[in-house]
Amino acid sequence: MKDEKKVINMTEKTARQWLHERGVEVKDIAELVYFLQEKYHQNLKMEECIQNVERVLSKREVQNAILTGIQLDIMAEKGMMEEPLQTIIATDEGLYGIDEILAFAIVNVYGSIGFTNYGYIDKQKPGILKELNDKSSGKCNTFLDDIVGAIAAAASSRLAHRAANAE
Ligand code: MG
Repeated sequence: MKDEKKVINMTEKTARQWLHERGVEVKDIAELVYFLQEKYHQNLKMEECIQNVERVLSKREVQNAILTGIQLDIMAEKGMMEEPLQTIIATDEGLYGIDEILAFAIVNVYGSIGFTNYGYIDKQKPGILKELNDKSSGKCNTFLDDIVGAIAAAASSRLAHRAANAE
């Protein structure tokens, strides 16, 4: 029981640490939120975007998706998986699709607007998403790019819901 509690307490800290180690900062995700929401909110502040990303990152289901996705990326990068999964994930094979499914666990938290935002940002690939998709880096970000897009989409939905309720 005691160990279980310890693990739960580690989850948020580790998820944030791993994002940082994989080159993703809260500010980078907040910039994606800004990109998605600036046309809908006059005087949108970066601070608001950061706050909404922070709240999304505090959710357990989001932390679990981050840990799982990054772990799989790292294993593929190190060549630690069995075939055919090793090649599929290491080469970010287009028809795989489980990276998107994992990201839906994040988008789901804030309802259906999240899906629209996620689809849009995944097509546009602004800011950090472009960097994560750069195959010449030698890094495997097959899961991470979808996770980051999904956190931004979820934070955008949260911001949109709150703004609608404030009107
Ligand atoms: Mg992907």
